[in-house]
Parts: sequence; C-alpha cells; structure tokens
Amino acid sequence: MARILITSAIPYINGIKHLGNLVGSQLPADLFARYMRQRGHEVLFLCATDEHGTPAELAAAKAGKPVAEYCAEMWQVQKDLSDGFRLSFDHFGRSSSPQNHKLTQHFAGRLAEAGLIREVSEEQVYSHADKRFLPDRYIEGTCPNCGYDRARGDQCENCTKQLDPTDLIDPRSAISGSTDLEVRETKHLYLRQSEMRGQLNDWIDSKTDWPILTTSIARKWLNDGDGLRDRGITRDLDWGIPVKKGEEEWPGMEGKVFYVWFDAPIEYIACAAEWVDAGKGDDWERWWREDKGAEDVRYVQFMGKDNVPFHTLSFPATIMGSGEPWKLVDYIKSFNYLNYDGGQFSTSQGRGVFMDQALEILPADYWRWWLLSHAPESSDSEFTWENFQASVNKDLADVLGNFVSRVTKFCRSKFGEVVPEGGEYGDAEVALVAELQGRVDAYQAHMEAMEVRKSAAELRAIWVAGNEYLQAAAPWAAYKEDPDRAAAIVRLSLNLIRLYAVLSEPFIPDASAAMLEAMGATGADWPDTVGEALAALPAGHGFTVPDVLFAKITDEAREGWQEKFAGQRG
Ligand SMILES: [Zn+2]
Repeated sequence: MARILITSAIPYINGIKHLGNLVGSQLPADLFARYMRQRGHEVLFLCATDEHGTPAELAAAKAGKPVAEYCAEMWQVQKDLSDGFRLSFDHFGRSSSPQNHKLTQHFAGRLAEAGLIREVSEEQVYSHADKRFLPDRYIEGTCPNCGYDRARGDQCENCTKQLDPTDLIDPRSAISGSTDLEVRETKHLYLRQSEMRGQLNDWIDSKTDWPILTTSIARKWLNDGDGLRDRGITRDLDWGIPVKKGEEEWPGMEGKVFYVWFDAPIEYIACAAEWVDAGKGDDWERWWREDKGAEDVRYVQFMGKDNVPFHTLSFPATIMGSGEPWKLVDYIKSFNYLNYDGGQFSTSQGRGVFMDQALEILPADYWRWWLLSHAPESSDSEFTWENFQASVNKDLADVLGNFVSRVTKFCRSKFGEVVPEGGEYGDAEVALVAELQGRVDAYQAHMEAMEVRKSAAELRAIWVAGNEYLQAAAPWAAYKEDPDRAAAIVRLSLNLIRLYAVLSEPFIPDASAAMLEAMGATGADWPDTVGEALAALPAGHGFTVPDVLFAKITDEAREGWQEKFAGQRG
C-alpha cells in the first residue's frame, strides 16, 4: 500500500468556475484520487479556495458586502458545487484559515532567518479619502496617449498602452473617485528567488519523469533574460495575512499583508492542518514533513498550464528556502485549455457553461464523462453541444446504459430477479474474459500514468466488449432452444454489470453506485482478475432492475441549450 498526497490547483474565490476550470485540475485530480483509493492506497486529497488579493476585495465591494462575509458565502457556494460534481476531497479548505495565517507567517520568518528576504522601498500612490495605498489598477485617469478618460494606472483599455499611475492626467481613486492622492514611499518584502536559481535548476534537472511541457516552462523562467527574478511578497491591503516574522512583529511592515501568490500555495499544507482540526484526520505532518513520517509519501499536483511556473519555482523556492524538510512535489500533471464552441470559456465575459448551470440541466456523471474523455491533455480541446450530445448518447446511453437495461430486464422476464443457475461457460466466455483481462490491464496502466483520455477510451472499450458479447451470444434466441445456455450467458452478464460498476467508479460514481445497488453488491473493491470478478455474484443472488442509468439527450434539448448558452451569462 502506497501513500499518495494529491492536491488540485485552488480556485479563486470571486465567482463560480466554468467547465474549463473544472477539467483543468479538480476533476482529473478526483479521478486519480478515486482510482488510488479503490486500489487500496492511502490517499489524502486536498483542495481549497484562494481568498486573498485585490479581485476578492473588488468582488466583495461590488456585492456590497464585507470581504470576509463575501468570501465565507462564496466558499459555501463552491463547496456545494464541488459536492454536486462528486469531487471527493478529504478536505475543502480556505486560504484565509487561521492555520494558513500561522504557516504563512512561519515560512516568512524562516526565509528571513535564511537571508532570503530583502526590503525594498517603492513609490506608490496613497489615497487620503480611502486611507490606503492603491494598486495600479485602482487608479483611473485620462490617458496621455489617446485622451481616453477611464484609463487604468497599469494600462489604457482604449489604446492598450502600458502605463504607470503617474502617467495619468487627472488621476483619481477607482474606489472612491477621490482626487486627493499622493505619491508616498512604502516598503515591501521581496523573496530572493534569484539566490535560489542553482538549487531550483538542480531540482528541475532531477525530474526526468516530468513531461517536457512542464520542465520547459520552468527552465524558461529560470534562464530567460536575466533569469529568475526576486518577487514581492507583500501588499498594502487590509484583506490578507498580516506580515509577521513567525510569531514576531516585523518592524516597518505594520498594516501590510502577504501578497496572495505567497500565501495561496502554502494553503496546500495548511489545508491538511484544517483537515485534522475538522476532526477528519489525526496527523497532518505525517503527510507533509519528511522528518515526521512523510518520507514515503508520493505527492502529485494537478493544474492548468498557466499555473506551472508557480508550482515548479515559486512554491518550491518557499519550501526549499525554509531549510525545513517539507514535502516537495513528486509529479505535476498539467493541462491545456478547454475551449467553448468556437471560442474560449471566459469568466469575465460569462461565456460558456458554468458549474452551477451544468448541474441545473444534467446530473454530474454526464459532465464528468464528457469532460474527462475529452480532457485537454496533449493539446487544447473544444466543447461543442453536438459532440456532448453524441458522446453521452453513444457511450453512456447506447453502450453502458443499454447493456445494463437489456440484461436485467431479460433476466427478470425469463428467470426472475435472481442470478440464474445452470449451463456452462464456453469458448465465447473464455474469449471475453481474455479480452477483458487485457483491457483491464491496459486501463490500470493508463490510470496509474494519469493518462486521462486513454483511460476513458479503454473503459469505453471494456463496455463495448460486453455489448458485443451479448449481441453475439443472444440469450433471447438461445432461451428458446436451450434455456441453460441462456442462463449461463445472463449469469455472466449480470456479473459484468457489477464489474462495470467497479471499473467505472472513478469516472461516473453515481451510476456506479446505482449499478452496485441494483446488483445487491457491496463495496467497489478492485478485482484481482477478471475471471474471479465475473464469479462474484453466484447463482441465486438477488438483484433489481435499475432505473434508466442515462437518458439520451434529444435534439430539441440540445438546440435549446445551444441557444441558452450562446449569449452571455446574466
Ligand atoms: Zn489610451
């Protein structure tokens, strides 16, 4: 039994995520976690919301709520949606938790002691009316280049010119509209990542099993131009983790908070502490500290490709720089982008299908199957309603659902709701078992390797093999001449339904549970061999005919959704 720590990139708090976000980290992470648990491994699967920073403050202001209240509400919304999609996190935490405050301050203190933090004086715009420093994008004014009167302090949206706040004519606060602004000197802390370039380079070099996509992104940041640059880790904001050196005050840093990029990945660790404090586990350090039991843990991270630099450089720099034996990532599984119907999913423009909308129209398994079987692994992939309809109708309804329905209904009508006895298995059954064993072996290898699309294709082939067997063996024809032969075919097929439930659980957990329940089977223990698994339900074992597992998507429904989601989200 192995111990596997799995984290999914943590979603930002300011809104509901779209299906492209879901398939880019959380959903494939869930697939892997479910599979590893089924194989009997000890798994800790963590995710959380990323709650600090300017966008959270802006979103809260827009909603007319204090930022802490806004974040608490949005955390619950995201938690409910992740439950709705059956994401099996052992804990869904919050980067604003007290545990993360403590750990982030701890890491900053350790980095300071190691000489890896320097103080930098900068000039920044202060608003007397707002009683705060304003980030560049919080300052508006007239563009010196084109005269547009709502240019932002970082860029003019009209002519796209990059700006500094001091370039703006008649600058004002985007929060209050006040023009009572002043350029003040302020101090910030920088993490000396440049000092750690050699150590990070050696570490990346040691990752010979990582995809080239991942290591090449890391090397680019390490070596392009002047190489890896130091990064600011503090901000003049109210909402965030107060800057402290461990438990000590940090002179000159009063009223400042850590920059969100610094505290967010530390939440991967803090989340484990939250998991223990929530009474779900008893020792989080045995997952995270190599001196406290984590030396045999395999740590796998899932994320979209845009998150790779943070996870290959910035977070490892924090961990290595602390000089403490925290667990570093062993494998990074990264994803390209899912596009939506000829364009991109866009949160800011409300384009595409969002997690709440998806569950309003169809159950989670339909989405899980399509998203995972079309995961953007080697290249970007695209969601179209035609493809979604075709995939659901063919794979789930015609192949899997139809098999379950035909076998159970035929058995009920001829033999009653028990696994029938009599008859012997012949050449067709021997051939089927041999084919399935080869396919299950391949499926396992793809799942171990986190090859999501290949795993889905193999699972589909496993379903198809059963259908083809049933079609060829034709128990409805055999029954007229030789009822014992029909009984043998049906007995094998009912056992196949149970096996399908077990093998399909990581992809479609609700349908899997419904199949197991209908078969009167408990547990989804992984089979040692296909031959043994197909003898699990003996003659005389009772079952029930399940409700329709997957309804087909009609053309009318598809056209209706196509139209509904063509515009922007309101
Ligand atoms: Zn302009």
